[in-house]
Amino acid sequence: MKTLFHLLLIISLSCGLGLFSSCNQDKEMNVLLIVGGHDFDEVPFYAMLDKLPGVTYDVAEHPNAYTRLKPGLIDRYDVILLYDMPTEIPEDAKEDFVSMLENGKGLVALHHAFCSYDSWPEYTNIIGGRYHHFPWQKNGKEQPPSTYKHDIGMDIKVMDTKHPVTKGISDFQIMDEAYGGTEILENVHPLLGTDESASGPLVGWTNNYGNAKVVTLTLGHDKQAWENPNFTRILSQAISWVGGK
Ligand SMILES: [Zn+2]
Repeated sequence: MKTLFHLLLIISLSCGLGLFSSCNQDKEMNVLLIVGGHDFDEVPFYAMLDKLPGVTYDVAEHPNAYTRLKPGLIDRYDVILLYDMPTEIPEDAKEDFVSMLENGKGLVALHHAFCSYDSWPEYTNIIGGRYHHFPWQKNGKEQPPSTYKHDIGMDIKVMDTKHPVTKGISDFQIMDEAYGGTEILENVHPLLGTDESASGPLVGWTNNYGNAKVVTLTLGHDKQAWENPNFTRILSQAISWVGGK
């Protein structure tokens, strides 16, 4: 019994010193999930989240979600998971949003959260890209609006097999909604790509904003994706990585 106690003590001390890279995933992540502005199939979505290892979450729904980003209230969370799609954001909420990222709060933008905030250009810099609902300019040339197509079988290529978010994942297939003709900033770090013509070339990347780690995954429309073990593992590793201290 004493030996077991010593073993547990050694493991916990080693985790504290960061000697085991897997320990980070064992840390309980307190996640604030933000929803609203786009419907989704709630029962299987929450069932998928309930099964993510080491994740506990609260749900905040628009229009009241922004009050949870206030300094003091936001401190209890390690990670903000966006699965929302509002078009507008009040000025004071913009300030709280940016300030929590400057203070290092981890952020994961999932699927239709890529399509939020048409009228807030800074959101592009935060999540590293944009789904354009209207024609847009690229290098002085007008581009058509972005597109979406449901139930596309996509071959996904893992572009960085060593990154903590994609570690242990091999190239895989997924049936999901594809976003095409989107804008992705050049300075993002690519994680997941596809050559599916209905989709942009990247479906997953990391970005830095302020002191925050940010992961954007454009996958995740419905349970065809949520039941894909590659998707859930990537989401789980994304939450652990952005929330890592
Ligand atoms: Zn969707």
